[in-house]
Amino acid sequence: MKFTVAIDGPAAAGKGTISRAVAQHFGFAHLDTGLLYRAVGAKGGDPVAAARSLSPHDLARDDLRSLEAGQAASRVAALPEVRAALTAFQRDFARRDGGAVLDGRDIGTVICPDAEVKIYVTASPEIRARRRWLELGGDAAPESLADVLAQVRDRDDRDMNRADAPLKPAPDAVTLDTSEMSVEQAIAKALALISARLA
Ligand code: C5P
Repeated sequence: MKFTVAIDGPAAAGKGTISRAVAQHFGFAHLDTGLLYRAVGAKGGDPVAAARSLSPHDLARDDLRSLEAGQAASRVAALPEVRAALTAFQRDFARRDGGAVLDGRDIGTVICPDAEVKIYVTASPEIRARRRWLELGGDAAPESLADVLAQVRDRDDRDMNRADAPLKPAPDAVTLDTSEMSVEQAIAKALALISARLA
């Protein structure tokens, strides 16, 4: 069975948590596409060459989740040649047998415009920054909440306003605003949408 779930949205909206829960519930494979861009940014050197030669080893680095890696990712992600180099891998993953869930920024709009289910997960910048700051350790985090908020806004601005594959909901995506939702509620909504489409 081929069945693709596209989950897009800005940083720290809850895409990753929802995608992992969806994959586990339905037994789908999961691809966190942000990791590809993070790995390209972290490799340094020419980003286009880095994207063309990306290996599983590059994706296994343990420093890809940092705020710096996120900023570097969003810079290299604005380059059309970098995006083009990563497209085929993502499309193949999406159509593998047994179902797939991909989360990112352009899955429903560019990578898998024919995905069976498209969800756009969002939340206010303040709430997303607080969540990311708590993940980083809250009061023990190296960055202040204000710094994290500034970085969230900066990345939103770059991701939403780039010329190639800007972050925006696909016309047929269902928007899930998680600002006022618990993790459990957000997951339940996503599972219900997918179950309805599978039925
Ligand atoms: O999702 P994550 O925060 O790991 O993504 C890091 C960066 O990679 C994003 O800010 C965005 O610039 C880029 N990205 C993208 N397209 C995707 C996934 C991530 O441009 N499908």
